[in-house]
Amino acid sequence: MRAVRMTSPGVLEQVEVPTPTAGSGEVLLAVGAVGACHSDLHVLDAPPGLFPTPITLGHEIAGTVETVGAGVTGWSAGDRAAVYGIIGCGTCRACLRGRENQCRRVPPGGIGLSRDGGLAEYVAVPASRLLHVGDLDLIQAAPLTDAGLTPYHAIELARPALRPGTTCVVIGIGGLGHLAVQILVATTAVHIIAVDTSVAALDLATRMGAHHVVRADPEAVDRIREIVGPAPDGADVVIDCVGVDPTLTTARSVVATGGQLLLVGLGGGTLPVRPVADEPPTMPLETNVVIPFWGTRAELQELIALGRLGLVTADVQTFPLERAPEAYDLLRRGEIHGRAVIVP
Ligand code: NAD
Ligand code: ZN
Ligand code: ZN
Repeated sequence: MRAVRMTSPGVLEQVEVPTPTAGSGEVLLAVGAVGACHSDLHVLDAPPGLFPTPITLGHEIAGTVETVGAGVTGWSAGDRAAVYGIIGCGTCRACLRGRENQCRRVPPGGIGLSRDGGLAEYVAVPASRLLHVGDLDLIQAAPLTDAGLTPYHAIELARPALRPGTTCVVIGIGGLGHLAVQILVATTAVHIIAVDTSVAALDLATRMGAHHVVRADPEAVDRIREIVGPAPDGADVVIDCVGVDPTLTTARSVVATGGQLLLVGLGGGTLPVRPVADEPPTMPLETNVVIPFWGTRAELQELIALGRLGLVTADVQTFPLERAPEAYDLLRRGEIHGRAVIVP
């Protein structure tokens, strides 16, 4: 079969590989759609040794069951499914509470990151990773498994603070951010301020229901402050879907005293945290900082329900498998709006 693999660190190419078979407890999925995540660019850019090679990338997967392995119950050929990408140990304190994204034994990774993923015609995954998608289009289901699930989980963590009438700033309106805006619209009654360097991304944010858009330039903090008011007031929740130094500076400069800062983007920036006496303070008093990772299976099921209700719909650009490397090049250049989805 054809697969798009990181054949050596930093090298992404389409190659022929043997079609996998479903092992015990696994299903073989005919890949219907796979989202191109910015994290894949971080994987390609990572120092040699951090990720296994060769590896088939693609961790936002939806498809149709082709065959089931020994011992699999509840799934049969033709079933349509989304793939929950994390494979926790299943027995640690976090996994037992359903928080496989916090597994204390298996390092962060998953299908398409630490074992072969979905940028291929077929992928073998543990049956326990599948969720039924009903009548949801697979091209819609795929981005929900990560671009949707990650902000959904972050919003879940901050939900007690997302009271009606409060303000949430979302920085970076790409694959994750545009779904973050929709999830906020669908599940809260907060004012949403979207921030991005790209005018096209801000237009997308407006279409998704953001109430204010702010261009990420040196005046961004001032313009957000005009909306949320001066310190110690500010944004109740800030979701940074970029995570570089400038966005982290914006985030900590606009978050309210007692607010929440959700650091989702893996851009490699640093958030300074110093005790209170500093002037100017690095962060308002009582700020909660969380570094969310992906999400839980239960959250993905809820998000699929929102997708099936038409309340969360990814804005997608589709590419055939052989054009996957080109899709990643466009993503790197900031020329993908919403999510690029590869359709093998
Ligand atoms: P993307 O490329 O689709 O979107 C990024 C957006 O950020 C773009 O709209 C871009 O214009 C904007 N942007 C870039 N620099 C900016 C700046 N300085 N200020 C404001 N906006 C800026 O990326 P994505 O797939 O949505 O991923 C976003 C980040 O989240 C990546 O770092 C990715 O690795 C990370 N991620 C984290 C998790 C997690 O579990 N924590 C999961 C998935 C992705
Ligand atoms: Zn991802
Ligand atoms: Zn575990």
